[in-house]
Amino acid sequence: LLFNLASHHAKVQLNSKPAVVDRRTGNQHSYQDLVADVARLRLTLLDGKDDLNEARIAFLFPNGYSYVVAQWAVWAAGGIAVPLCTSHPPPELLYTLTDSQSSRVLAHPDYESIIRDVSSAAKIPSLTLPDSTIVLGASNPPLPPIHPPVALSSHRRALIIYTSGTTGSPKGVVTTHAAIAAQTETLVRAWQWTETDRILHVLPLHHVHGVVNALQCPLWAGATVEMTHFDAGEVWERWIRGSKGEEEKISVFMAVPTIYCEFRKCIFGRMGMANAIRSIARVLPLSCILQSPNTFFPSAKLIHHHSSLPPDRQRLATAACAQHRLTVSGSAALPTPLRRAWQNVSGGQVLLERYGMTEIGMALSGGYEVEERIEGTVGLPLPGVQVRLMAEDDAPDTARDVTEEMEVPGEIQVKGPSVFKEYWNRPEATRKEFTEDGWFKTGDIGVRKPPEGHFAIMGRKSVDIIKSGGYKLSALEIEREMLAHPDVRDVAVVAVDDPEWGQRVAAVLVVEEGKPDRIPHSHVPENRLSQPLDLPTLRDYFKPRMAHYKIPTMMKIVDGQLPRNVMGKVNKKELVKLFGEGSK
Ligand code: ATP
Ligand code: MG
Repeated sequence: LLFNLASHHAKVQLNSKPAVVDRRTGNQHSYQDLVADVARLRLTLLDGKDDLNEARIAFLFPNGYSYVVAQWAVWAAGGIAVPLCTSHPPPELLYTLTDSQSSRVLAHPDYESIIRDVSSAAKIPSLTLPDSTIVLGASNPPLPPIHPPVALSSHRRALIIYTSGTTGSPKGVVTTHAAIAAQTETLVRAWQWTETDRILHVLPLHHVHGVVNALQCPLWAGATVEMTHFDAGEVWERWIRGSKGEEEKISVFMAVPTIYCEFRKCIFGRMGMANAIRSIARVLPLSCILQSPNTFFPSAKLIHHHSSLPPDRQRLATAACAQHRLTVSGSAALPTPLRRAWQNVSGGQVLLERYGMTEIGMALSGGYEVEERIEGTVGLPLPGVQVRLMAEDDAPDTARDVTEEMEVPGEIQVKGPSVFKEYWNRPEATRKEFTEDGWFKTGDIGVRKPPEGHFAIMGRKSVDIIKSGGYKLSALEIEREMLAHPDVRDVAVVAVDDPEWGQRVAAVLVVEEGKPDRIPHSHVPENRLSQPLDLPTLRDYFKPRMAHYKIPTMMKIVDGQLPRNVMGKVNKKELVKLFGEGSK
């Protein structure tokens, strides 16, 4: 991939163009610098050898230039890159190091002590790389010649990314150079990346979303990647400066749904520091905030659905968002109220929703043209990706291809050059997840919606499909409808085993802290609901709005927030335990 990129850039004369703008260091790095720094670090990693022969090299860098150099240098040396997550606590880092059998770990000095501990527990050497050893640039001689390692073929293993661990222990997904190139090329085409683009990259760099969609795609296209950690206020300010011409405009932004909700306080006016701390401290212990700032996400809702912006703030928000040609949401279902709220506050921006997973990259995407982004759907298969829906009755061997049928749910199965090679060290799991004719079984249930046949995601077979009284219900669909309730700030719908119904629909709710439409926009809502939300009130509200068998018959209210991981995903296997014995 790296050498494809290098030759591609040579062809289009991008050498002096900024490849990465690192907002943490304030430095800008050209394509030429990037290739030179990669070549130097490659020599360090090779340490006299000519090929790392698929050795796993783990690395932990903040969101910025050093991450890119580390990842590409591992590739250029013939190793397998294993990116670690900056907000993972030591046990999770250790799990990744030992499970991937990494032979070495590279780290930024910011993480030196944590890496020293986990690498010694894993009994592997670590190497701390300060920015000054990575950032030398093309003008700093001697520039070693760049030759691919002897046997670097595109079918070599390139990357191990761990799944989010939403349904069990994270699995190491092994992707080849060819698969990453395929994942990249399809998105570059479909989302019309060009060298004139500039993306503000705020996503964690241990997932496909951050590694491929938001990083490899722009670099492949010769665009500029501005990298920083996510902070809603800082991103907002950056957009404002872009809109005023004080800095370059940002043309592309990508995020998980809950990140879009984080702009709530910016859009309605910055909350004071005291308020901010009070509102965060209400929902999380301070130790948790300090250790992993990335794990704090407020809810699935951007605004109260009756809220509207005062004209001055509306002008500001519209101007901030007008510079984007593309805003993408993915990694978890985009709640309809959030999609609509974003469209309102941004002055008409329609988020493009796509569906993918670590194992396959992106498979389905809303259209590039705004009118081809249909609410509640994730669009159509991306170029070069084959997608089919297989319906199963409860009896085994009854799978039937329903891809051409409308409104018939089936498991999403995927085939094509972007599909992963294997789960690291788990041959049995790999075998189980492929059909005999080579389709990858995603475990997600999808359905096609008329008239155009766009795909909608009903959820994971294992946790989101609720079998109740003969119906197969989608937890995601029920969540979408429930979020429209004015007092529901966030919700997860789970299945609770039941002797009479098979399973019952149960909802775990976070309620709104106040009614934002009655609150002055300058501060966070403090007043509580006048009437508490209980199950009978909730059911009465939904009776005229939802089929009776979908309305939850069990409910729990949790304080503050639902437990979400860094990608904004709810762990439903944990949540269902709230309902005690008999839970699924
Ligand atoms: P694990 O496999 O360890 O349980 P995970 O499946 O959450 O974790 P990822 O590969 O990061 O790990 O996430 C892929 C999953 O995310 C998909 O299988 C799907 O369930 C969900 N997903 C991704 N995009 C969307 C979307 N637009 N709508 C609904 N779900 C989505
Ligand atoms: Mg998964």
